[in-house]
Amino acid sequence: MPNTTTGQTAWPEGVIARYLTVGNATTDIRVIEGRCLVNAACTGCHVTYQPFDYTGYFLDSEYSLEEAEQKALASAQQDSAKWAQLHAEKCRAMPRPAAADATVSLRST
Ligand SMILES: [Zn+2]
Repeated sequence: MPNTTTGQTAWPEGVIARYLTVGNATTDIRVIEGRCLVNAACTGCHVTYQPFDYTGYFLDSEYSLEEAEQKALASAQQDSAKWAQLHAEKCRAMPRPAAADATVSLRST
């Protein structure tokens, strides 16, 4: 299978993992700045996934706040990765050609 332009472009800021969908879009896992959380989103159909915040669960398990947040972040990344992988395997929505739109608007100015 040949490389696609989607796989070669720079990742948006905050994206820590990216899965190529069958529709040639991506599902991106992103760190939410300042919240110690992640979410995942598809650039094809724009569905998003917000993993459960396990911070309270780990606090109840007698971890310190810092440990609980780190463990919750790791759990959220694992849950997001599972969702992103499953979604990428079946989503056939194609991404809107934003690069083409940008080229058109540059030419018209
Ligand atoms: Zn999708």
